[in-house]
Amino acid sequence: MSANPVQDIFNYSPRQLTGLMQSWGETPFRAKQIMAAAWTPGTSLFSQVSMLPLALRKKLDDFFLISKPFMPKNLVTSTDGTSKALFELSDKLQIESVAIPFRNRLTFCLSSQVGCSLGCRFCATARMGFIRNLTTAELVGQLRGLIALVKRLPTSIVLMGMGEPLQNLDSVRSFVELIHHPQALNWSANKTTISTSGWLPGLEAITQNPLPAKLAFSLNAVTDGMRSQIMPVNRRYPLADILAALKKYAQAKQESITVEYVLLKGVNDRPEDARILARLLKSLPSKINLIPWNEVAGIPFHSPSAEIVQQFKTELLKQGALATLRLSRGAAIGAACGQLARQHHRRAA
Ligand code: SF4
Repeated sequence: MSANPVQDIFNYSPRQLTGLMQSWGETPFRAKQIMAAAWTPGTSLFSQVSMLPLALRKKLDDFFLISKPFMPKNLVTSTDGTSKALFELSDKLQIESVAIPFRNRLTFCLSSQVGCSLGCRFCATARMGFIRNLTTAELVGQLRGLIALVKRLPTSIVLMGMGEPLQNLDSVRSFVELIHHPQALNWSANKTTISTSGWLPGLEAITQNPLPAKLAFSLNAVTDGMRSQIMPVNRRYPLADILAALKKYAQAKQESITVEYVLLKGVNDRPEDARILARLLKSLPSKINLIPWNEVAGIPFHSPSAEIVQQFKTELLKQGALATLRLSRGAAIGAACGQLARQHHRRAA
């Protein structure tokens, strides 16, 4: 048995791996070779990597596990081509990830936590409560699992699945830094989006120390009263504080933010809401993404009609806001925004 417990190579950031190689008396170049090998599809052991010296291969296999891409335990594919994969983690907890093809684009939507603590009233994941954060290797496992499933790389990766990514910032940061590394996926920052519901400590942290990713903010209501009702996180971090923090972020990063607005029938879909929304965002470099709510059994909200959605968008445009309408993908299989959840998420007996 090795002295250390076996570590998953995908939990190691490029910096940590370089540090480890130095502590083993190896050159930093070895870290690059090791990362490139781990990310090569089909590599399951370092003993297969002939470019590395034999003694180092042995040491690496004693120290590291190269975890396999996640294999779906269940997979459903919608008529629009959206696939929702159920992945089981090593502790038997389950998460969902979604691959969404649209024309020549392919978006992967990954989960960052098992469940979520933030309790948004319109969200199926909220009903699970918070169970635990995902590790960096589990984020990588989802990504590699979806790549293996659809047999191609995505055109964009969004962290908008189960969980609040900014509550799991350590893993999320390592993950995005890892996939952007030339020896990993050589991914680009403008093809990654992190979506937050307004977790202020995380927002401040990524303003101080930016992530190589774009930011989306899930707003969904234009007054503190309504937002606190549908998104309890607003009681802790009210709108004025979040909007001020978003402005700082946009300024520091010199970047526009996507503001997501889930339209709920009779709750936040009046023309007056659109006017307030445009006013609220006037001084924030942003574009609004309207998302008609996807029905979830047992959650007492409804989708507004297409006509109301169109009126809302028209009102925003009239007020000078930038607004687009997100076409719902995967709603029929419970893979659309806010629909991800596992009923049997607890540890198997
Ligand atoms: S919408 Fe996002 S932040 Fe809110 S409960 Fe669902 S997963 Fe959590």
